[in-house]
Amino acid sequence: MAIYRDKILRIDLTTKRVVVEELPKEVKYKFVGGRGFGAWFLYKELSPKIEPFAPDNKLLFLPGVLAGTVAPGFSRWIVVTKSPLTGCYARSVGGGKFGAAIKLVGYDFIVIEGRSERPSYVYIDKEGIKIFEAEDLWGLDTQETQKKLWERHGRKTHIACIGPAGEKLVRFAAIIHERRAAARCGVGAVMGAKNLKAIAINTEGCSPPPLHDREGFLKLVKEHNHVLKTHPRRQRLTQLGTTFMTMRMHELGIFPVKNFQEGTIPGVEQISAEAFLKLKVKDYGCYACTTRCGNVFEVKEGPYKGAVSEGPEYETIFAFGGEVCNTEIGSLVAADALCDRMGLDTISTGVTIGFLMELFEKGIVSKDEIDGLEPKWGDHVVMMTLIEKIGKRIGIGKLLGEGVKRAAEAIGRGAERYAMHAKGLELPGYEPRAAKAHGLSYATSNIGGSHMYGYARQEISGATEPREVDRLADEGKGDIAGWNQIKKAREETGVLCNFADSNITPKFISDLYVAATGIPEFGDLDYLDKVGERIVCLERCFNVREGFNRKDDVLPERFLKEPLRNAGPSTGEMIRKMDTLLDEYYEYMGYDKNGVPKREKLKELGLDDMVEDIPGE
Ligand code: SF4
Repeated sequence: MAIYRDKILRIDLTTKRVVVEELPKEVKYKFVGGRGFGAWFLYKELSPKIEPFAPDNKLLFLPGVLAGTVAPGFSRWIVVTKSPLTGCYARSVGGGKFGAAIKLVGYDFIVIEGRSERPSYVYIDKEGIKIFEAEDLWGLDTQETQKKLWERHGRKTHIACIGPAGEKLVRFAAIIHERRAAARCGVGAVMGAKNLKAIAINTEGCSPPPLHDREGFLKLVKEHNHVLKTHPRRQRLTQLGTTFMTMRMHELGIFPVKNFQEGTIPGVEQISAEAFLKLKVKDYGCYACTTRCGNVFEVKEGPYKGAVSEGPEYETIFAFGGEVCNTEIGSLVAADALCDRMGLDTISTGVTIGFLMELFEKGIVSKDEIDGLEPKWGDHVVMMTLIEKIGKRIGIGKLLGEGVKRAAEAIGRGAERYAMHAKGLELPGYEPRAAKAHGLSYATSNIGGSHMYGYARQEISGATEPREVDRLADEGKGDIAGWNQIKKAREETGVLCNFADSNITPKFISDLYVAATGIPEFGDLDYLDKVGERIVCLERCFNVREGFNRKDDVLPERFLKEPLRNAGPSTGEMIRKMDTLLDEYYEYMGYDKNGVPKREKLKELGLDDMVEDIPGE
């Protein structure tokens, strides 16, 4: 069947056995690709309650259905596993060329199983698969690792690797490809637990996957790229990346400051898009992307002079800016680069440091307990020290590398009140009290506190699909959170990038899918909607089987009890009706009052296999 390689590459690191399996036809029809395949295979292959660091856990690397083609924004990749940070389903997305490389070298996705006895890396090219020892790479940062592997295997080799953080099992370690991260949920720590330093794919001599209707497909892409040339959103993203979001979120009171205590940071213009533009030296784009939102910044003066990074983008500006009340722009570039080298999720790292700063402010921890450091708001020198300690897991970094939920439990003394997470995943840069459907999605997301699981554009940027939303309204958000989550899951069958989606409509996606695959069902928008809903529901089934339910669909107490301070038009806001919001969401999704999919919903979605596993109504 066109576009699909019809091959799953399965590598068992314990036995060194490599198997190529056929991709079942019915799975293609039911789940299309990317995240859909991830949800299905993880559910089917993982026994409930396994320990995330055990050899039994699996790590799936999944490109979208169109990866490796010229369709712009469709060549990102997803990692799916059981998260060591949350204990539930993990989905983490990376950019660059690695997704395309999996498809180009001939596989629909890769499954890593078992645990290598010694550090190792996997090398794949068109001739086959080899597992090499990686003793000499162990301990290197992600940039040094890639450099060594390029020297060994050539520049046509595309590498996904871990740094010291993944090796040391930091629970929010990332997998890095070039300077792009599959950052969230601790997927890098699972790779470290498997003693797997890298997967290196050499695409020399490989061809793109065949298209069912090549002419029709290329015509669609050409027309789309023609519109993009003058599209204002695309132009702004190309010039500024997502740095422009900082001032916009700050004006709305959505930009979290001081560990989500307030919404205004003095001197915010020092970390605005205009300030970053002065540091820009070049841009960067993922495979076949015409938006090219990546910005490479170089610090020209001050204490971080000479620091270079591809980023920070908005989330990292929040994490090392607003979250810790820091406006030293050079430190944001340096912190971003350091996290990339260590292999750390910038969001979780920044929120963990903000958490420690608040504990220090409140007198819950003393400097004697934290290596003599005095982590005060805005102290970027201490911030950099803490990133290094977390990445290498030394001193207080040992505890902080557990993530805020576990660290707070270990500290006690009321520290839990200041741990900003949902299901254990540290929260990203949107204040939930000021964007309540977005906040509801943090609470109900099957991967924990993620902004990308169900991004509420209606509240963040005034989108009017499926309807207009008052971001501060206390209720009437359940359908919006559900709609956004289903939309995202549908788009992640192709791992479509949020920033490259200017002018991309559901119809355009389905036309591309039909031209690429020749499967007429993919031309039906309702069919694709059902695929998205099936994916979200299956991910929830995974979590329910692990013991998650309504009690876990919660937000930190701060958002329910403390009015938001100093946040312009959002000042005084709280989540006042959490139970109502949850009831609305469950009803929209076809779940019972406990947040468990109802049997009739499972049957409607063709998830009959799960009926016996799930204790729903
Ligand atoms: S818009 Fe940016 S992140 Fe998205 S595919 Fe293009 S370069 Fe990559």
